[in-house]
Amino acid sequence: MTAPRTAIVTGSTSGIGLSIAEAFAAEGCNIVVNSFSDTPADHAIAEQIAERYKVAAVYLQADMSKAADCRALVAKTAEKFGSVDILVNNAGIQHVAPVEDFPTEKWDAIIAINLTSAFHTTAAAIPLMKKAGGGRIINIASAHGLVASAYKSAYVSAKHGIMGLTKTVALEVALDKITCNAICPGYVLTPLVEAQIPDQMKTHNMDRETVVREVMLDRQPTKEFVTVEQVAATAVFLASPAAAQINGTHVSVDGGWTAQ
Ligand code: NAD
Repeated sequence: MTAPRTAIVTGSTSGIGLSIAEAFAAEGCNIVVNSFSDTPADHAIAEQIAERYKVAAVYLQADMSKAADCRALVAKTAEKFGSVDILVNNAGIQHVAPVEDFPTEKWDAIIAINLTSAFHTTAAAIPLMKKAGGGRIINIASAHGLVASAYKSAYVSAKHGIMGLTKTVALEVALDKITCNAICPGYVLTPLVEAQIPDQMKTHNMDRETVVREVMLDRQPTKEFVTVEQVAATAVFLASPAAAQINGTHVSVDGGWTAQ
């Protein structure tokens, strides 16, 4: 029997991150669930994962907009579980505004959480992965890491940035049995996206189905949302032995969006 691997998933109390945490738990990994808050509900998520998948799971509070928190998250994980084998940089936020009106504090927060946090966690995790003889770094980028949309200057810049970080890190660790890759999802039906549907229905005077197809999935050729489980399964694949030679690239899970 091989020892369980330890996976950190940043921003994993909801949406894609939570699904990735559950998918690695289903693989028998030790799991670190993370967000910026520190409530009983946050800890309950880790407890439920531990109970459901019969693994060790812990919630570690760390604000991914803060360098010291990012590095401490990795250090605390190593303290608790002895290693960091899989690092999934997933935490992310969004703000939509024309570039001339884009609030500076929103720009700074998006770059910090969606890009700079991955630099800090990666820098802290690599020495541990080298010591352990290997590891997997998986960055949750976006179709917006490859193409742009108007009014999303900070998000698109951060996501393009993380694609560059992914390739650079991949080259630096290629001889250490560590891989670094990105996943580029299209529109994923997370609670955050689901919550926007009623407003869009009102604004456009459309039923749910039409809003989803014509407005939200305008650029997604399958006209279907990506599911969190599909993104999570891609992350599990990238951490599997079959993906050992996949390095410094991305997997698009976007229904054909970026084929256009
Ligand atoms: P979500 O809002 O459901 O989840 C985001 C998670 O990040 C939450 O757990 C939240 O608590 C956490 N988080 C936010 N700020 C944080 C901070 N400062 N420190 C630590 N954690 C923080 O969003 P989601 O849709 O699941 O998005 C997850 C990732 O996937 C993001 O990087 C996002 O850009 C990317 N993505 C989402 C979609 C989509 O359509 N939903 C598409 C492509 C890429």
